Amino acid sequence: MKKIGIIICSRYQSCGGGKCFRAVRERAGGFARYPKNEPVEVVGFSNCGGCPGGNIEYVPEEMKKNGAEVVHLATGFVVGYPPCPYILQFKQFIETRYGLPVVVGTHPIPLKYFEAHRLLPYWDDMKMAEIAGDLMKEDRAVMEAYN
Ligand code: SF4
Repeated sequence: MKKIGIIICSRYQSCGGGKCFRAVRERAGGFARYPKNEPVEVVGFSNCGGCPGGNIEYVPEEMKKNGAEVVHLATGFVVGYPPCPYILQFKQFIETRYGLPVVVGTHPIPLKYFEAHRLLPYWDDMKMAEIAGDLMKEDRAVMEAYN
């Protein structure tokens, strides 16, 4: 059993989490790293609290108390317009302060967003291929299924 917490970008705070929960079930995107025969439980779901992300200081603690072993920063951090400028700081903070590994990405990037973003130089400037490697490796057909 793997217990995880998910933090989404506050710009999408009304999101019902449909794609994230689907991806947990399908072990796609940022969740492809977990074997299909290992149960994954989402023990926390919250948002960053709005720029510059004040909730990042607190919500991982609650997730950890609930047994979270990993925190996932949602795919919206990567493919929002603009992408979140604090991804690396959030990752470093949570990993250092709470000792919880952080994975950048939840559901696969919908192909239509991937096609638009990969043309934007700032994705390269932010080293997004490195930061969100699991998402970049995703199969095109799977990305299309998440359009
Ligand atoms: S861009 Fe980053 S800091 Fe701003 S609301 Fe989204 S996740 Fe939070």
